[in-house]
Amino acid sequence: MKVLVINCGSSSVKWQVVESDSGKRLAEGKAERIGSDGRTHEDALKEILEEAKTHAPEAVGHRVVHGGEAFHAASVIDDEVLGAIEACVPLAPLHNPVNLAGIHAARALLPDVPHVAVFDTAFHSRMPRRSRMYAIDTELAKEKGIRRFGFHGTSHKFVAGLAADYLKTPVQDLRIITLHLGNGASACAVELGSSSETSMGMTPLEGLVMGTRSGDVDPGVVLKLARELGIDEAERVLNRESGLKGLSGIGNDLRDLQAKAEEGHDGARLALTVFAHQVRKYIGAYAAVMGGVDAVVLTGGIGENSAPMRRRILQRLEFLGVRMDEDANQGAKVTDDDPVRDISEPGARVKTLVIATNEELEIARQTQEIASGAKKIAQKKPIPIAVSARHIHLTREALDALYGEGYELTPYKPLSQPGQFACEEKLTIIGPRNKIEGVRILGPLRPGCQVEISRTDEFFLGVDAPVRHSGKTKGSAPITLEGPKGTLKLEEGLICAWRHIHMTPADAEAYGVKDKEYVEVAVKGGPRDLIFGDVLVRVKDSYALEMHIDTDEANAAELGRMSEGDIVDAEVYVTPNDAEAVIREKS
Ligand code: ADP
Repeated sequence: MKVLVINCGSSSVKWQVVESDSGKRLAEGKAERIGSDGRTHEDALKEILEEAKTHAPEAVGHRVVHGGEAFHAASVIDDEVLGAIEACVPLAPLHNPVNLAGIHAARALLPDVPHVAVFDTAFHSRMPRRSRMYAIDTELAKEKGIRRFGFHGTSHKFVAGLAADYLKTPVQDLRIITLHLGNGASACAVELGSSSETSMGMTPLEGLVMGTRSGDVDPGVVLKLARELGIDEAERVLNRESGLKGLSGIGNDLRDLQAKAEEGHDGARLALTVFAHQVRKYIGAYAAVMGGVDAVVLTGGIGENSAPMRRRILQRLEFLGVRMDEDANQGAKVTDDDPVRDISEPGARVKTLVIATNEELEIARQTQEIASGAKKIAQKKPIPIAVSARHIHLTREALDALYGEGYELTPYKPLSQPGQFACEEKLTIIGPRNKIEGVRILGPLRPGCQVEISRTDEFFLGVDAPVRHSGKTKGSAPITLEGPKGTLKLEEGLICAWRHIHMTPADAEAYGVKDKEYVEVAVKGGPRDLIFGDVLVRVKDSYALEMHIDTDEANAAELGRMSEGDIVDAEVYVTPNDAEAVIREKS
């Protein structure tokens, strides 16, 4: 999908058109010095959008700094969402208003494509309470909306994902410390795929030493400055005159400070030392918070480019298993096309990675995901649920053995999947403990025998059947079948069927899902609401749209009276959250 990504800052507007699948950047631009020369955000946006429009974007992703309590993920923008972003203005008075200006202008000029807000705060929104809460009166905190929100979430999420890809391990199995070190800087403990701690707090002022922001200080310092300089001046000093700039007395650009430090400038040296010390402190803290660490990732202008600063930060961390290879560190160059460099010593327990962040690509991806969700809502269409009772598929040879040579099945009624039918013929299945009579055969004949039963049947029969996808019977359980002309012992073929949805490519497109993908299906509106996880999507031209579950699953969700092949009338729609299909029973 071609996504226009808009990043509207206080004095600049940056945009890119990104092909979200390939990650290819198709076009980009930047308007600076907004506010000077009487040029407003509206003027700049108008110019930019006219140009961006020529690239025919299919969706627009807007970076929004603060999503407050309201947003746990990116969201399609509608009036309600606009209201919620507006409500977060007091939390980010410099950023959210300009983000909103960008949204209004872009929606006016590109009214026919979905617009999606991607929040810097969203990735941190599910931090545990122990990380989120400051130790002040909880009532007061609630009343004033005081808590840790965290920022740079798009970047932390993106680089953690790339680190997991590099380590060939699902991010859900990893504990990663991500260090976004740019002009603004923050650390994040990415624990099993989500942020469990981050150094920026209610505002981006907390945590690491930054270009001009102080990062952590004793709150008493803030009070003293406010008392003696006045609130506004104290705020200005802590945000604009502190950090590397304040410590060095020179400026906030690390390159300049490194050069000056080499010449022996004491302020520059001090700035570098305090910066590195603070980052190292957070690495230790987050390793402790997560009970260990698998990878440390450095990103942002400083993390990606400054080998000397990386060395300062990573020294004396051997006790944690972090061992950096100095040659690899010196030679590490990352780009959007080649974004990961491993700078760990061979055999180091913790991988140290330099990764090029790409917030625009992450915004484009999330926009695509959500925008296809918006389409899903527009095209919601009922998915019937078929409850499969226990049944049997046979081969030619098996039918011969059970019914006699050359026997032909007698169709009883067609099933919803084209060409499939239930048969008049029924068999007895015999387990070590019990047997079940009258189990229907489904036609046509297949290349392999397969007997599908429920967990309840399994207990009754006294067998242990694996949950398997249809056709995957290798190594499944043995079972004995009894027919009118003979008994057949199958060495394997007995399974509990994996719940799944059959659909055509057009259905898959409408729901925004792919073949072999797993989705969650929520059954709502009945007396026993239930969410089925791990529902396999199976896409084929010849399929009819239908979800298949077994009788136990249907009972658990109280899905009406089930009988063989009966279709429960259900209404399905898909919410914008990932690919969550929601199925409602019709009353
Ligand atoms: P922002 O937070 O504004 O996006 P960046 O991520 O671009 O900032 O990071 C800016 C910082 O990165 C500056 O301090 C700059 O000096 C530093 N930086 C960029 N390139 C290098 C380099 N080659 N060596 C050292 N520092 C660098």
